[in-house]
Amino acid sequence: MTCVECNKQLDYSDHKASMDALGVELCPAHQRRMIKLIESHNTPKEAIQLYYGLKEAGVTAMLEWWDGSKSIDIAISRVKLNIEIDVEYNMITHEQAIHDLEEAMHSFKNGFTTIRIPHVLIKYYLKETVNNILGIMEGLRTHIKAI
Ligand SMILES: [Zn+2]
Repeated sequence: MTCVECNKQLDYSDHKASMDALGVELCPAHQRRMIKLIESHNTPKEAIQLYYGLKEAGVTAMLEWWDGSKSIDIAISRVKLNIEIDVEYNMITHEQAIHDLEEAMHSFKNGFTTIRIPHVLIKYYLKETVNNILGIMEGLRTHIKAI
């Protein structure tokens, strides 16, 4: 049991506290940093799980990246991919839906692709979600090369 950020050894209670709070193995210092991020940005903890899932797959991403007008849950700048985690997918209102679509439109205009991932997908299908994002990155990379 080691911290996924700094490889520090975790004892049982640190490990349990981190898994309970975030679902990711982090040392107390890195745990505190993530909890601060969650509190200041209202970041879903699934965003942190996906961030480390991507990191494990060798993908450098950014958490809560400020794109000039809003904070993106996860951004992969190399391929201009923005990932937003939807926490209440079943309860989306039409106002929220049109707002999301408008944001996606603005991102596209700036050359960014936005995908929205329901948080339950990360909870139950983290590996498959990461694999699909890798595929999307591959597609975007090919497309960026083509233009
Ligand atoms: Zn650490």
